[in-house]
Amino acid sequence: MNRRTFSLEGAVFAAPAPPAGLHVVATPIGNLRDITLRALDILAGADAVLCEDTRVARTLMDHFAISATLIAYHEHNAAEMRPKILARLAAGEALALTSDAGTPLVSDPGYKLVGDALAAGAAVYAAPGASALLAGLVVAGLPTDAFFFAGFLPPKSAARRARLAELRMTPGTLVFYESPRRIAETLADCIAALGDRPAATARELTKKFETTRRGRLSDLAALYAQGEETRGEMVLLIAPPQPEEADEATLDARLLATMQTHSVKDAAAIVAGETGLPRREVYARALRLGGK
Ligand code: SAM
Repeated sequence: MNRRTFSLEGAVFAAPAPPAGLHVVATPIGNLRDITLRALDILAGADAVLCEDTRVARTLMDHFAISATLIAYHEHNAAEMRPKILARLAAGEALALTSDAGTPLVSDPGYKLVGDALAAGAAVYAAPGASALLAGLVVAGLPTDAFFFAGFLPPKSAARRARLAELRMTPGTLVFYESPRRIAETLADCIAALGDRPAATARELTKKFETTRRGRLSDLAALYAQGEETRGEMVLLIAPPQPEEADEATLDARLLATMQTHSVKDAAAIVAGETGLPRREVYARALRLGGK
């Protein structure tokens, strides 16, 4: 088989040589038909393909009969490999960067390589395609005008709750990558840290057992507490805070600031006067905050 060709449904296509530089190429997140024609051109035409796991990449290449030179580039060898890759880019090669699935750099290696390649004056190109982040967002039914991708949450509950508390007032839909095996515990922490918001889980996107669940966090927690749907890969999406929550956070911030220089009682009186809220209510809130 010649280099610089790919095969699609029995037909063989010649791939043009891509321009010199680093080509960040998205690959499918399950359904191989989500590969793009441009991705095939670049994977077949590049001088080499940098990939996380050569066995995973080889399976994809074989599917499209691409005989690319594969080079492993992953978090364990990245520091050692980067200078070698930069030297190849400096020599005018066209290199493709892929990850095991989806878009490289999105919870996957590549960010430092792109930064170093740019700093070294190499061209960097995107060949966009599948990403679980956007696929999850479009099926969730939650606001899409603003969203915050927070990657994976910490595996331990205390650290997870702390991270969720930091994200509580983020003014957009929260998007996480999560393991279905851990989703029941994570949902419990989400309710504790964020309140019972609308949410969705999108599991096995683009694959045979694709399942999207939508409801309040408590509905999803009840579902996963039964121990079902624990296999595969998952995106967790959570609606932004409601306006009342934002008001509460602002009130807390004012109380905390005022309590820096006044007693709890005086601070509550001042903030109650400023906001027109009942003094007893503000005092109770200040006591709770003061007790933290
Ligand atoms: N770079 C990839 C992307 O663009 O989506 C993500 C890589 S990250 C290491 C892998 C995580 O993405 C999985 O643990 C899961 O949370 C999510 N993921 C990947 N494929 C998925 C799929 N088909 N359905 C749902 N989530 C998926």
